[in-house]
Amino acid sequence: MRQTIDLHTHSTASDGAMPPADLVALADRKRLAALALTDHDTIAGLSAAAKAAAAFSELIFIPGVEISAAFPNGTLHILGLGVDPNHDDLIQVLKRLRIARNQRNTKMIARLQQLGLDISMQEVLAYAGQNRTDEPDQIISRVHMAEALRRKGLVQTAKQAFQKYLGPGTPGYIAKDRLSPAEAIGFIRRAGGVAALAHPVQLRYGNWAELERILRELIDLGLESIEAYHTDHTPDQTRHYLDLARRNDLLVVGGSDFHGSTKAEAKLGQPRVPVSCLTESRFANKLLTIS
Ligand code: AMP
Ligand code: MN
Ligand code: MN
Ligand code: MN
Repeated sequence: MRQTIDLHTHSTASDGAMPPADLVALADRKRLAALALTDHDTIAGLSAAAKAAAAFSELIFIPGVEISAAFPNGTLHILGLGVDPNHDDLIQVLKRLRIARNQRNTKMIARLQQLGLDISMQEVLAYAGQNRTDEPDQIISRVHMAEALRRKGLVQTAKQAFQKYLGPGTPGYIAKDRLSPAEAIGFIRRAGGVAALAHPVQLRYGNWAELERILRELIDLGLESIEAYHTDHTPDQTRHYLDLARRNDLLVVGGSDFHGSTKAEAKLGQPRVPVSCLTESRFANKLLTIS
């Protein structure tokens, strides 16, 4: 019986480096009991992943998405686990976000050009692998701009691209359109998914009491789960998030936030997330019967 799961991963459908089918095969090689694909603001990789997962009888595939929501301080991402990839409202809202994102990308690239950087949309798309025909709804993000700048020798590393040109407060940065937390949670739940607060550490809360206050507001909006285990969490933070989950009756989930080579420190299957998160949760029926 397989013991661990990874419920937070990205593929080439968003800013990951690995195609969905390869990611599924890697999860099986790592002997994971379950894998969720949770690309940023897109479900374009889910059908290829589900198809690939059908070949692995010991791996449960959970269709997911990671939606960016508006938040005054830090980063608020909501994971949708077990969403129906054919749900029309979800498809439509993600399409709306993608159109807004494309407009933002065009503006950001124009700014980079005004800064004297020799970079074009075609190059960013090429580096994002947009020429593939299997994922027409792939999203293009700042990660792809960073990679294009690096490959052209305009920065040394992708990190430097964010520091100089792409991060908040730099001259190339434009904020992207985001759903409100209520909208993000609502779309996930209407599509049959469990809404989970991703990597709470990125909220940049001042203290534990402030985090719990934010969490309770999100619970009032329909949040059902918290990502206690994550690559960026210290053991102390994980313990605290587990405690918050218990106190607020939230499903515990977790994952690596695997991106392949675009985020090399995140390794698939790490940290180890116990399969009991799925099998012993009150959402087990919802999460385990959808693949
Ligand atoms: P976007 O959705 O286009 O705003 O891009 C957000 C993505 O950029 C995130 O999912 C991260 O993977 C990546 N990112 C954000 N900030 C940094 C940074 N400072 N260094 C490297 N990658 C970053
Ligand atoms: Mn990412
Ligand atoms: Mn995230
Ligand atoms: Mn993520």
